[in-house]
Amino acid sequence: MLGAACERAGIAFEVIDAGHAAAASRVGAGLISPLTGRRLVPTWRFAEWREEVWNIYRYWEHELGLPLVREVKIRRFFQNEEQRGWFESRRAVPEVAAWVTDIDDHGWGLQGALQVETGRLIAALRERWQRRGQLVERRVAAEGPSAAERPPTIWCVGGTIGAVLPLPWQSSRGELVRGRIEGMDPTTVLNDGHWLLPGEAGDVRVGSTFDRDNLTLETSAAGQAELIAAAERLAGQVLQDPQGDVGLRVTVPDRRPVAGWTDPARVRGVLGGLAAKGALWAPVLAQQWCADGLVGDQLDPAARVTRFKAGRGGWGEAGE
Ligand SMILES: Cc1cc2nc3c(=O)[nH]c(=O)nc-3n(C[C@H](O)[C@H](O)[C@H](O)COP(=O)(O)OP(=O)(O)OC[C@H]3O[C@@H](n4cnc5c(N)ncnc54)[C@H](O)[C@@H]3O)c2cc1C
Repeated sequence: MLGAACERAGIAFEVIDAGHAAAASRVGAGLISPLTGRRLVPTWRFAEWREEVWNIYRYWEHELGLPLVREVKIRRFFQNEEQRGWFESRRAVPEVAAWVTDIDDHGWGLQGALQVETGRLIAALRERWQRRGQLVERRVAAEGPSAAERPPTIWCVGGTIGAVLPLPWQSSRGELVRGRIEGMDPTTVLNDGHWLLPGEAGDVRVGSTFDRDNLTLETSAAGQAELIAAAERLAGQVLQDPQGDVGLRVTVPDRRPVAGWTDPARVRGVLGGLAAKGALWAPVLAQQWCADGLVGDQLDPAARVTRFKAGRGGWGEAGE
């Protein structure tokens, strides 16, 4: 998304990417939801950035001639009395109430959510930049290209960011299953703690697992079984042709993204810590990066890497 924002802003750039095969963006379902989790936590910057992110994806839809973004409704089911209790205690809070609709005995509806085909968008941009010689496929060593031989580098490396910048990153591994279920309403995501996302022509995705201990990039039998069972519970039908996938999410303790130059000379920058919110945060932060020609002063102050400070052992101590 940073490459895309540079292209739009007319800033010269080159993407160096190790191949994208292990990228979380290839796996992520691209859901952008106003509230997340059992506790209905408002998504950071959802209300402020929803229209902007919609316009960015619509621009790329037009530019690339591909369907990329749509509005979806999320139907949330109460799994037990505890969840019903959480909902009752939160539903009147203004940031929650704004998105709640269609309450009944079994659950409620969440309005305002978006879904983006991030994998499709990135595949198209990669092909475009490969054709134009703006994408080089190789792995960059953690110390990076030296400042003497290269222009400034902004690291957008997802789960491998810890090797480059020692902040208190926290990683979790997420599995997902793709398959086919006929007859689902494509406009509605079903969620009972797991979610089922209907797509085009009977394709569905179901997710996701959350594991902080096993960070290997392989699907597990238990994870896949959990998701297949969830799909069948939510759809009331068998999931056909299940195919598993896995990726890493990365966050920091305050759960906000991390962006900006790490040094006053502006040699090394970062855009990361996108957690399970990359579809919302990445395009807007990339646009902010480019708003002043990559100076970085237009980045949301609450997302800046400078909220951490460099200690004697390097980056990682809490700053501001
Ligand atoms: C199961 C699952 C479901 C998810 N669902 C959603 C969702 O519904 N909505 C949402 O918003 N988010 C979701 N996410 C999170 C989302 O996928 C991430 O926020 C987002 O993809 C992170 O993007 P990124 O560019 O930081 O990292 P990545 O997509 O992982 O990209 C990192 C890139 O850096 C490259 N790279 C790494 N190291 C190097 C190196 N040393 N040299 C060169 N290149 C390198 C890799 O090849 C890769 O292309 C989900 C994640 C998972 C795992």
